Amino acid sequence: MGAESNILKTLPKAVKLPTQSFIGGKHVSARSGATLECIFPGDGKVIGEVAACDEVDVDLAVRSAREAFGSGRWSRMAPQERRKIMLRFSELILANREELGILETLNVGKPIVNATNGDIPSAANCVAWFGEAIDKIYGEVGPTSDDLMAVVTREPLGVVAAIVPWNYPLSMAAWKFAPALIAGNSVVLKPAEQSPYTALRIAELALEAGIPEGVFNVVSGFGKTAGQALGRHMDVDCVTFTGSTQVGKMFLIYAGQSNGKRVSLELGGKSPQVVLADADLDAAAASIAAGIFANAGQVCNAGSRVIVEESVKDALVEKVTKHAEALRVGNPFDVETKMGPLVSREQYERVLSYMEIGVQQGARIATGGGKTLVESGGYFVQPTIFDNVRNDMRIAQEEIFGPVLSVISVKDAEQAVKVANDTVYGLAAGVWTENIRIAQRVAKGIRAGVVWVNCFDRGNMSVPFGGFKQSGHGRDKSLHAIDKYTDWKATWFAS
Ligand code: NAD
Repeated sequence: MGAESNILKTLPKAVKLPTQSFIGGKHVSARSGATLECIFPGDGKVIGEVAACDEVDVDLAVRSAREAFGSGRWSRMAPQERRKIMLRFSELILANREELGILETLNVGKPIVNATNGDIPSAANCVAWFGEAIDKIYGEVGPTSDDLMAVVTREPLGVVAAIVPWNYPLSMAAWKFAPALIAGNSVVLKPAEQSPYTALRIAELALEAGIPEGVFNVVSGFGKTAGQALGRHMDVDCVTFTGSTQVGKMFLIYAGQSNGKRVSLELGGKSPQVVLADADLDAAAASIAAGIFANAGQVCNAGSRVIVEESVKDALVEKVTKHAEALRVGNPFDVETKMGPLVSREQYERVLSYMEIGVQQGARIATGGGKTLVESGGYFVQPTIFDNVRNDMRIAQEEIFGPVLSVISVKDAEQAVKVANDTVYGLAAGVWTENIRIAQRVAKGIRAGVVWVNCFDRGNMSVPFGGFKQSGHGRDKSLHAIDKYTDWKATWFAS
C-alpha cells in the first residue's frame, strides 16, 4: 500500500470506510482476496482498499440477484409496499447525508459542500421520486374484437447490471438503480474503481430500508474485470451504462458476444454553448463559467465549446475569464472551495496534455493553462479558457473532461448551428439570445438530447436526460427511464 493520506486524521470517528462488496445482503471480500486502492485526489495518497471483484464474484452477485428475482420477494411485492420501502430508503440516504458526502469527497475530491448539499440529496430525491411512481404506473387493455381481451402489462426484465462513472458517483447510480428497482428488477451495481464508497454504503441502507437480500448488490472492482464480466454475463438481462463513449461501445460488443442483453448508454459529450450577438452577456458568461468549471469540468454535459458571434466574442471572453479567475481552487474539505482537484492522476495527466495540445494547435490561452497547488500532491489544475479555437482542433472535438473551455467565433446563427453540430456527440447544448424566433430555430437545429435556452444545466427528476449520436441512447430520469427496465407483455383471454 502507498503512503497513507493525512486527511484520514481529520474525519469524524463515525465515518467508516467501506472495504467489502455487498452480495446477497452480506459484506463479502473478493474470492481471490484481491483489493484495489482508494486514493484521495486532494493529496494523491491512499485512504483505503476495497474488494477488487472479478468474474467469480460477479457471478455470485448475478446468481444472488437472479434468485431474489425468481423468489418474488421484491418483484412480486405489492407496489404500495415497495413504495414505502423506497421512501424509507430515500430518508435513510438523507439521514446519512453528512457521512455520504464525506465518502464522496474522499473518493472523487469534489467540494464537500457540493457533495453534501448537491449529490447526496439529489440521489435521495431520485429514489423518492421513483418510489412515489411505483403504484401510479398502469398497464393497458388492447382494443380487440369482442370475443377477446388483451391485457398489456409492463414486466420487469430480471437482473439489471448498472455500470456507472466517478464524476457524480451516487447520483448517477441512483438514476439507474431507482427506476430499475421500482420496475421490480434485481440490481447489480458496479461503481467506478475511483469511487466505490457511497455505492457500498447505500447497499447497507437499502437493506436497512427493507429491500430484501439479493435484490440490490454492489460489486466494486475494475472495469476490465468486474465491468466486463457483467457485460458478458449470460444471465444479466440488461446493462444500463453511464461512462465514456469508448467503453459504452464495448458493452454493445459484450452483449453481442453473450446473450444479446439489452444495453442503454449515457455517454460523453462536447456540448456547445451558442451565444448570439443580442444575448445577455453577463448572464451567459456566468452560466458558461458554471457550465464548464462545476465539478472541475468533469461533467458529461459540460458546456465545453462556446460558439459565439464574432462581434461579441472579446467581450464575452473577458467576462468568462473574470469568473474563472475568481474561482477558489483548493482542498475539497474546505467549505470555501469552489473547485477541487481532478479525480485521479490519470485524469490530471490527460487534462494537462490537452492544455498542451491546445497551444500546439494554435489556440490562445486567455486564462489558466496548467497545474496549480502542486505542493499539495493533489491533482489540481487551473480553470482554463482557450480563445481563437477552430472547431477542427482536438480541444474542440475531443471530450477533455476537465475545466477547459474552447471559444470559437462564428459570423451568424446559421454558422453557429453548423459548428454546434459538427461533432460526434449530441448530449446537450445552450443557446443565448433575446430573440425568441431565433432561439426556437437554433434550438431546433441542434442535434442534442437536451437544449437549454438562456440557461444551462437546469434539471428536474421529471424531465428525461440523455443523448443523440455518440452520446448514447435511452433516457435517465422521468417515467421514460422505466422503458429501459421493463418489457411489454400481452396476455390474451378468449371469452
Ligand atoms: P469510463 O467509461 O472509463 O468508466 C465508466 C464505467 O465503466 C466504470 O465503472 C468503469 O470501471 C467501467 N469500465 C471501464 N472500462 C471498462 C471495460 N473495458 N469493460 C467494462 N467496463 C469498463 O468513464 P469514466 O471515466 O468513469 O467517466 C467519464 C465518462 O462518463 C465521460 O465520458 C463522461 O462524459 C461520461 N458520463 C456521461 C454521463 C451521461 O449521462 N451521459 C454522465 C456522467 C458521465
